[in-house]
Amino acid sequence: MTDTSIQTNPSLQDCGLKSAQVNALRKLGVYGVLDLLRLFPKEHLDVIPTRIAELEADTTVTLLATLDLYQVTMPRNKLTLQTWYLSDGSQHQDHIKAVVFSGSSLHQTVGWQQGRHSEFPKGSRLLVTGTVKRDRFGKQITKPQMRVVSVDLELTEQLEIRPVYSDRTPLTGTQISDLVRTVLEAMQSQPFADNLTDALREQYGLMGYRDALYGIHQPTDRGQLERAIKRLVFGEFYDLECRLIRKRQQLTQPNQTLTTQPNLQPFLQQLPFDLTGAQKRVLHEISLDFQIGTATMRRLVQGDVGSGKTAVAAGAIVMAVQQGDQAAVMVPTTALCAQLYRKLYEWLDPLGFSIQRLHGNATTQARRQLLESLADGSLSVVIGTQSLLRTDVEFKRLGLVVIDEEHRFGVEQREALQVKGRAVHRLSLTATPIPRTLALTLHGDQDVSVLDEMPPGRTPITTRVYDGSKASQVEAAYSLLRSQVQRGFQAFVVFPLIEANPGLDLANSITAFNELTCKAGGRLSDFTVKVLHGKLKEREKATVMQSFVDGETQVLLATTVIEVGIDVPKATVILIHNGERFGLAQLHQLRGRVGRGKDRSFCLVLNEARSESSKARLLCLEQSQNGFWLAEQDLKLRGQGDILGTRQSGLLPFRLANLLLHADLLEQARAAAWQTAHC
Ligand code: ADP
Ligand code: MG
Repeated sequence: MTDTSIQTNPSLQDCGLKSAQVNALRKLGVYGVLDLLRLFPKEHLDVIPTRIAELEADTTVTLLATLDLYQVTMPRNKLTLQTWYLSDGSQHQDHIKAVVFSGSSLHQTVGWQQGRHSEFPKGSRLLVTGTVKRDRFGKQITKPQMRVVSVDLELTEQLEIRPVYSDRTPLTGTQISDLVRTVLEAMQSQPFADNLTDALREQYGLMGYRDALYGIHQPTDRGQLERAIKRLVFGEFYDLECRLIRKRQQLTQPNQTLTTQPNLQPFLQQLPFDLTGAQKRVLHEISLDFQIGTATMRRLVQGDVGSGKTAVAAGAIVMAVQQGDQAAVMVPTTALCAQLYRKLYEWLDPLGFSIQRLHGNATTQARRQLLESLADGSLSVVIGTQSLLRTDVEFKRLGLVVIDEEHRFGVEQREALQVKGRAVHRLSLTATPIPRTLALTLHGDQDVSVLDEMPPGRTPITTRVYDGSKASQVEAAYSLLRSQVQRGFQAFVVFPLIEANPGLDLANSITAFNELTCKAGGRLSDFTVKVLHGKLKEREKATVMQSFVDGETQVLLATTVIEVGIDVPKATVILIHNGERFGLAQLHQLRGRVGRGKDRSFCLVLNEARSESSKARLLCLEQSQNGFWLAEQDLKLRGQGDILGTRQSGLLPFRLANLLLHADLLEQARAAAWQTAHC
């Protein structure tokens, strides 16, 4: 339990900070002591001191020296010059001056005072850090920072681990460092609130919050620093997981609606295939969520492209409709909507379910009829895009929401549909395999099911990376593509533009896209080629897509709009330009557009960057067809910020925690959070 008698964020003034300093900190969003102490160092340096004789101009150095003399002079009006005369006790009695002009603009900004340094008595051993400057009087140390150390400290010892802080306007890193030190001194005897109980800390071998803050800002050795970081990272994960659990508990209420046990037999019997083991397992997990008394379902199904998520979703719809509820399926694009509708209609219509598609280009009358039938409950299943979120879409008894390709929706969108009913189950599907660590942080408020088995009879896709800067290699890739199309198959050619580049204005991006597609166009002049990108009108997109599905269009030039769920078994080649601009997970998804039939398929990636790192990254794609493994590699090679994209990485409230380095701590913190949630 948190001790409520402890102030959670003591004030900075109480620690002796001046109002100018407090104001400067406010600009950084720092209002109390804890905010300041959460400006963690960006790194820690091992300080090994230099001898005076070895000092080089224009370097930042640390010196272990004795104070011989301290002087204050006023060389100019209103300017004071403080000078410390230092020697390092070496054979030749080398000496050097350290100087500070008080009143220089830097120190005025926040009312800085170096005065306390003058209080060092003569003969003190000082550890001095500063920049060496040389002028006509010789070398001197400018902007010095000093502290007294023990007289017997030897030069050869590694003296300290120094935290280094980032500059954060209007404060420099050095100023932040000084403020942190002042506050830590003032808080020396004050208690700190701790978000972890004694029992938890003992169980997981963690130090107290207070020790951890001192340990990260003023470590005495590397061991202590590591233990401090471990404690703070654990705390960050623990707070997040507790929040996720609370959110989950608030949003979900126990089911009361179940009237009959689900019976999937009729559905399974008319499916044109047997479910894979993984599909059966996940459907079983979903059926448990439908039991009376369990919390409303919040489940994310992760499964590689082609793993058969649609059949799982259809099973869930059957369960919902059987108990008298309506189901709504939301998909990110019109093309996908049409395709999913066809499939669900084929499987659910024979069961006597009424199912319709809400699309943008329906006539007003058709739309009104559809909305009426949803509102009076005569329509059981509706499939649509974001248009389902509009307020005029009302349900009589919405019981299940399916969000297909959920990573394409914003967080609010994912949650907006389920409020159109009471205690609505939510099933989200994603083909973006994400590493477990990310699933636990981003999706910690949901249960996660994994479809880790592919339907039988798929031939693995042959992946080849080409050097896109060499005309001969590009030609080799295109010639393979052409030979496939000549044999009657279809192909995708993917460009990173338009969607991948929101910074470009529309006209420019379309021009750039046209140029690129022309490059491809010349090589494809014998075929029927169509272009698909996100800026086309919905109706145009649907027409283009349909002609590809019908086999009329042989080659589809596209941006990543085709990333999502398109299922065309005759498409056996996908050629990707500028492969280096995509994440591995995304490339893997694109690759999943082919290999959907029995025929051998190809994924040809043109690498147009020269760096070794992008080459190495793309080679992972040649090596593996396992989306989860690739996602792990992406996380390793690109870091958590990049892999998620800006929108999602903003969801990770970490200052220290790194999902790659601290995966074990995350698992422990999640366990701890559940432990406390249940007591
Ligand atoms: P995704 O997981 O990418 O959404 P789909 O649900 O579109 O995959 O399934 C891909 C293809 O595999 C579809 O044509 C689907 O009908 C087929 N399929 C799904 N499950 C099976 C299965 N168990 N056996 C054979 N084919 C299956
Ligand atoms: Mg799908």
